[in-house]
Amino acid sequence: MFCKTCGSLLRPKTTPYGKWMACPNGHSQPKLNQEDTKLQTKNTNEGKLLEVNLGENPLSVHDHICPRCGHNKAELIEISANYSDEDNIYRMKCGKCSFVVQLEGKTT
Ligand SMILES: [Zn+2]
Ligand SMILES: [Zn+2]
Repeated sequence: MFCKTCGSLLRPKTTPYGKWMACPNGHSQPKLNQEDTKLQTKNTNEGKLLEVNLGENPLSVHDHICPRCGHNKAELIEISANYSDEDNIYRMKCGKCSFVVQLEGKTT
């Protein structure tokens, strides 16, 4: 087995989490480490992250309570009115149910 980063021959390494083959230059070997207990925990976390990304819009980072489902994060959508003298239009799109609310903010 060789390091995926620098190609060095891997050596057995003992850590508090178990033993695995590690690069003498300290490069991590993601695929190899998957068999380890520590990585099983990490995989669980990654699964949760994936779930969040699939279920909710990753762009919905603005605090906004959705009037439809009560979700508290929304994506800010800016529609530029560059062809007229109107102000830009801002909308909040719910990160969960995609319900769109137009924000009051027009000065005209
Ligand atoms: Zn290496
Ligand atoms: Zn919603």
